Amino acid sequence: MKTIAVLNQKGGVGKTTTVTNTAAALAALGAKVAVIDLDPQAHLTIHLGLEPQSIESGSYRILTQSAKFESEIMMVRPNLWLLPANINLVGAESELVSVVGREIILREALQASEEEFDYCLIDCAPSLGLLTLNALAAAEEVLIPLQPHFLALQGFGKLLQTIELVNRRINPGLKVKWILLCMFDSRASLPNEVKSDIESFLNSARGTNSAWAQAEVLPYFIRRNIKLAEAPSYGKTIFEYEESCHGAEDYRKIAEFLHSKYSEPVQTGLSEIPLEGQTQEQPLEVQEGTSADSESVHIEQSSDVPSSETELTLAPDFENQQPEIPLEGQTQEQPLEAPEGTFADSEPVHIEQASDVSPSEAELTLAPDYESWQEEPKPADSTSQVQPMPEGSDENREKPPIEIKEIHPEESQTSEELTPQQTPPDQSESNQQQY
Ligand code: ADP
Ligand code: MG
Repeated sequence: MKTIAVLNQKGGVGKTTTVTNTAAALAALGAKVAVIDLDPQAHLTIHLGLEPQSIESGSYRILTQSAKFESEIMMVRPNLWLLPANINLVGAESELVSVVGREIILREALQASEEEFDYCLIDCAPSLGLLTLNALAAAEEVLIPLQPHFLALQGFGKLLQTIELVNRRINPGLKVKWILLCMFDSRASLPNEVKSDIESFLNSARGTNSAWAQAEVLPYFIRRNIKLAEAPSYGKTIFEYEESCHGAEDYRKIAEFLHSKYSEPVQTGLSEIPLEGQTQEQPLEVQEGTSADSESVHIEQSSDVPSSETELTLAPDFENQQPEIPLEGQTQEQPLEAPEGTFADSEPVHIEQASDVSPSEAELTLAPDYESWQEEPKPADSTSQVQPMPEGSDENREKPPIEIKEIHPEESQTSEELTPQQTPPDQSESNQQQY
């Protein structure tokens, strides 16, 4: 069984949509798939057509009552089983506070069913608390859905650090394997820039022993598609709701790609993956100069330090800025790999090594923060994300100043910049519940 945690501590980035539809597509390919709802909001459970209030069994009972995985799962579609969530899950973290080994309860429960399924996809809560730790302890791989906009990488360094910590302390086999760009708007240049910046960052970790040294951006992305936003309210997967829409097409490609990857005896590089089938709206070529004036988000890493010690530092001014997605003048073909100098005028966001921070100190900066950090509430109408940006809305905006910060041990830490009070009001990615 290949167990994949779908994780991003931000809400509204496409985790649940990805789990539901990738799992449904894998099941349609003939694989036996289990999905686990580890989010007290129970969106995965709802998306698959169940009412969380009427469900007694589920992930809560596994975590708190030593229930068996096979007795708690339910078959929801051919080849597809769900371990549902209900509202009780909200209390699981506090109930488990004094339980020894509370991070590995799910892992132990899954071990007995290792041979029963081909895939297990875990839909994580939008936090880095105990529920997510259980997912990370049980998983082999992490898939990070990311909405490629201006603030997409905020928190990305912290997420990777958390995974690194789990890898070192609880689950040595854990790897960040895939980044999936969701709600991709190919008319804007920024998503392509975010993509290429992530790729350069990931490339810089190749050959290191960091938990994301083998991570790759999936070669297909998920376009914005209103049908994907509508399907959950009918309790249907995208294939049941509108099987020929872009959303269905994209998730089918992701599932086929993953299935073929996992069926291969030896994994090959992404360069060998045929990219045919990408439509006009999934551009793969750079058009020179198209992004010369746009903002770039850079992740940088100093070469002489292990990648696991990276920190994302954002200047306060940056945190107050809204995402800026230039639309005007953009063509269908957007750059994925900008030519040199294309971003000469742009402001970088650096994931910068804290030069004076030892690995153990870096851990200390993370530990108190990740348990408590939550995102801002998101607008109730999530379909608003599907609305196009107004034409020319990028004009006359000031580019947000972003600066590189050195982190010193005595300057207490990047994590402070991410406290709830200071977290920027990210309109599109904040579907959070405090619990
Ligand atoms: P998360 O689980 O990370 O909080 P969701 O998968 O629930 O994110 O997605 C957030 C919202 O965006 C949901 O309303 C969902 O239906 C919608 N959505 C997800 N992916 C897309 C997409 N590609 N295009 C349009 N809407 C989407
Ligand atoms: Mg979700």
